[in-house]
Amino acid sequence: TYAVTAATGQLGTLVTDQLLAKNVESASITAVARDADKAAPFAARGVTVRTADYDDREALEAAFDGVDRLLFISGSEVGRRVPQHRNVIEAAKAAGVGRVYYTSVLRATDNPMVLAPEHKATEEMLAESGIAHTILRHGWYTENYTAEVPRHIARGVLLHAGGDGRIAAATRADFAEADAQALLTDYEANVTLELGGVSFTYADLARTISEVSGTAVEPQPVTPQEFRQILLQGGMDENTAGFLARLESDVAADRLDGDSTNLTDLLARPVTPLSIAVRAAL
Ligand code: NDP
Repeated sequence: TYAVTAATGQLGTLVTDQLLAKNVESASITAVARDADKAAPFAARGVTVRTADYDDREALEAAFDGVDRLLFISGSEVGRRVPQHRNVIEAAKAAGVGRVYYTSVLRATDNPMVLAPEHKATEEMLAESGIAHTILRHGWYTENYTAEVPRHIARGVLLHAGGDGRIAAATRADFAEADAQALLTDYEANVTLELGGVSFTYADLARTISEVSGTAVEPQPVTPQEFRQILLQGGMDENTAGFLARLESDVAADRLDGDSTNLTDLLARPVTPLSIAVRAAL
């Protein structure tokens, strides 16, 4: 049987949809969620729902009972994820899960990007656990950028501090389909896959938005310091502004780029083109 953690999140919901679309029986799928009410749509489709918070090791162990393959989607509480992920891994070990599939970040073990340390620590805990595992190192979601498309169009500019850095992004739906395919793949040894997508710069993104929308959007490059200042002036809190400026530095340094074909290999098709993702955001 298969289980998906963070099943009620955006990625988890799409992965569960994909498993069902790939003809996995609903009774063989367990959605692990911290909020049973939010998971009700899964239950309505015959998917088993088990409730467990990443902070509750015992509940996690009970939720993983009888699970062969576990898609462990990283939590979203940045800064708290190492102890939470330790709970997941210890619970999977105690429950006798056959293989853990973990959604990490590109080149987690040697990537200086701001979010990598918690993923690196999780990969190390998995290695130490002795549980068979497949690491699915995700690139950035295209939606992180396309969510802002209407605003860029309204302003006619795309403010950024990513320089000429490249971002290997794919849509959540692409990653979800690949994650589901990985779950259905028989891996023998421990495997690490780099799931990078279509590589683009902010200038490419601005050009694509202009083409798709018919409204000229010009890239407006600033330094990460200026970027942070502009966000603060717009009323954003210090932490978020600092974090987003850090991410822009990571983009400029190509830390979100990648050229592996692992994603298209799993999908057995090209990733969704940027123009399609932009159109979907309009
Ligand atoms: P969402 O924010 O939509 O979902 C996060 C999920 O994590 C939710 O289901 C949430 O539960 C669950 N979760 C958070 N904390 C806990 C906890 N303490 N116990 C149990 N579950 C918890 O994110 P996405 O689905 O879009 O992304 C999935 C993951 O990918 C993120 O959690 C994050 O680690 C990472 N990510 C990757 C990005 C990328 O560009 N590659 C960008 C952003 C995040 P609930 O549904 O109850 O809220």
